[in-house]
Amino acid sequence: MAVDSLIELRGVNKYYGQSHVLQDIDLTVSRGEVVVVIGPSGSGKSTLCRTVNRLETIESGRILIDGRPLPEEGRGLARLRAEVGMVFQSFNLFAHRTVLANVSLAQIKVRGRKKEDADRRSLRLLDRVGLASQADKLPAQLSGGQQQRVAIARALAMDPKVMLFDEPTSALDPEMINEVLEVMRQLAREGMTMVVVTHEMGFARSAANRVVFMADGRIVEDRTPDDFFTAPESERARDFLSKIL
Ligand code: ADP
Ligand code: MG
Repeated sequence: MAVDSLIELRGVNKYYGQSHVLQDIDLTVSRGEVVVVIGPSGSGKSTLCRTVNRLETIESGRILIDGRPLPEEGRGLARLRAEVGMVFQSFNLFAHRTVLANVSLAQIKVRGRKKEDADRRSLRLLDRVGLASQADKLPAQLSGGQQQRVAIARALAMDPKVMLFDEPTSALDPEMINEVLEVMRQLAREGMTMVVVTHEMGFARSAANRVVFMADGRIVEDRTPDDFFTAPESERARDFLSKIL
């Protein structure tokens, strides 16, 4: 294993019943790298993210996070989920808690921080995503783009080693997509290790170190954005790009 690899998947296979949704996946994400995962609907992108966080089990293969195998359960698993921050298409904020409380809760419960410490940290992170002035509001008082930025702050508050984004802008109105992508670009510039499932090809071109193209549960291409977008090697990728670009 490379010394600086933060995520390492080797020969990972996952089935839902008869359906073989991850097929012999080998993937390494190094510290500080931004890997964008693209591919048609149903190709296994979300499942890939979810296995890394152990929201899904796998049938065979190995997954290492920062050199350690995924914990099976208990405290180790809670720590893993903190270290691997996850942001979904739906923001999943607690509707009856303020923005500040949403960012602080898991810090207190999982990281064992005192409320004042957690809140101080939350405010700093809310400031970083441009939402310090919204701390006392309820999620429903915020726009979709603002809510997604709260979800990002909440994940960052756990001091993750890596952030996984699964179509973070797919549920947003077009005018809000950029404010979320800009927060992600900033994170990338600061050196955060990131795996991003997205259909935003502009983001892939400008922020990714590598593009991973999936189809039918397999990684079909794993290359630099330049190589991938200018000369995709596979028919599947050419077909996909012709439909979305
Ligand atoms: P993507 O994110 O690329 O659209 P998914 O990872 O969501 O793809 O899905 C991969 C395949 O696994 C699809 O065929 C999907 O129907 C199937 N699948 C996803 N989640 C489940 C589930 N909980 N139970 C059964 N099949 C599932
Ligand atoms: Mg998906």
